[in-house]
Amino acid sequence: MNRSTLRIDYTETVKEKLDREDSELIEMAFKAADKAYSPYSNFRVGAAIRLDNGMILQGNNQENASFPAGICAERAVIFYAHANFPESKIRAIAVTASPCGVCRQVLLESEKRAGAPIRMILANGNKIFIFNSVKDLLPFGFDSF
Ligand SMILES: [Zn+2]
Repeated sequence: MNRSTLRIDYTETVKEKLDREDSELIEMAFKAADKAYSPYSNFRVGAAIRLDNGMILQGNNQENASFPAGICAERAVIFYAHANFPESKIRAIAVTASPCGVCRQVLLESEKRAGAPIRMILANGNKIFIFNSVKDLLPFGFDSF
């Protein structure tokens, strides 16, 4: 039996200390949250991604009376990006909440497709958490072994 300890590498900061690119991305995520459709949870989430071509895309949660039919902000924007810009790689994502497990797995797949780490900027109120790779949030993803 081998016992191991995982170390999670992240930075905790506040909006005012973000660099221009991260600040722009999280602001776009908050603007996207304002347009969410969340009549059941009343929890609006926004996400914004930066592609390697410099484009920024936005998404938000879209709920449905049949709960599983809804989709989180992260997956809404990631699937839009992959559907419309399949040759582009996601470089960074900003989210106005902490991604759920399903979204973490989808982000891990996007990181695999990109062949490079995806920078994650997650907001919790005024606190910002920055991860330099999805693997820091999901160290044992579905196809890790
Ligand atoms: Zn999710």
